[in-house]
Amino acid sequence: GGTMAATGGAKTRLYVEDDLGDGRTVGLSASQAHYLKHVLRLSSGDRVVLFNGHDGEWLSSIDDIGRGWGSLEITRQLRAQSEEPDLWLFFAPIKRARLDFLVQKAVELGASRIMPVMTERTEVRRLNVERHRTNVIEATEQCERMTLPSFAEPQSLVAMLDSFPEDRTLAVCAERGDAPMLDDVLRAPEAAMQRWAILCGPEGGFTERELDALRKLPFISLASLGPRILRAETAVLSAVTCWQAALGDWRQRPPERDLA
Ligand code: SAM
Repeated sequence: GGTMAATGGAKTRLYVEDDLGDGRTVGLSASQAHYLKHVLRLSSGDRVVLFNGHDGEWLSSIDDIGRGWGSLEITRQLRAQSEEPDLWLFFAPIKRARLDFLVQKAVELGASRIMPVMTERTEVRRLNVERHRTNVIEATEQCERMTLPSFAEPQSLVAMLDSFPEDRTLAVCAERGDAPMLDDVLRAPEAAMQRWAILCGPEGGFTERELDALRKLPFISLASLGPRILRAETAVLSAVTCWQAALGDWRQRPPERDLA
């Protein structure tokens, strides 16, 4: 539309691995070059916003672009680096289309680490980690985050709990039983002093054996998401939303940027 034309495509936001700074030139990957040239139809002189997760956000302009290659010249910094909240997210993988949705939304909602865990009733056993990492990058570019969440290789629940750090609390979403409400858990006075992770189970739920094992761990806090049984992705995204509202950065607003 008109806005895109007026800003010369400057709304296009790309994650790059190169260092970013005044006077630098950045190379495009083959797929980025393809996307800019053939999908967005950008050419030399068009502007692109760049970030790499640690050097802030920069305005650049396309220097030259061809089939499968391209370079950008940095114009100026748009935003200093800032950190996203520290929230780890564990969930049992679900079927592909819903998992894609879940991962995209978890990025938008601000999770800092995304980690699939295999529980006893997890039915999806194979997962294309590279594809999910590409989805994470796309969602990060699109939602204007400043940091790239990591997407870990899947682990078994047992291995995950074995290596769980001592200085973090794991909120385990448990639909049956008498766990306190997640919102109450996260708004308790001591909650703000803790680092957090969230764990949700698969469509079949956790087994009694898993719940018994979880209850015995000192760093666990079982929590309820209310009277309805939520699908796995709804549970994960509701829990992240709850955490963001209680302890996250939702009191901040998207920054103004001058892209002209
Ligand atoms: N098959 C299970 C049952 O009928 O009891 C339901 C599992 S639910 C579809 C999938 C996961 O979402 C659960 O393992 C849990 O982590 C989470 N979940 C769903 N609804 C929830 C609720 N009301 N409170 C807490 N967690 C919930």
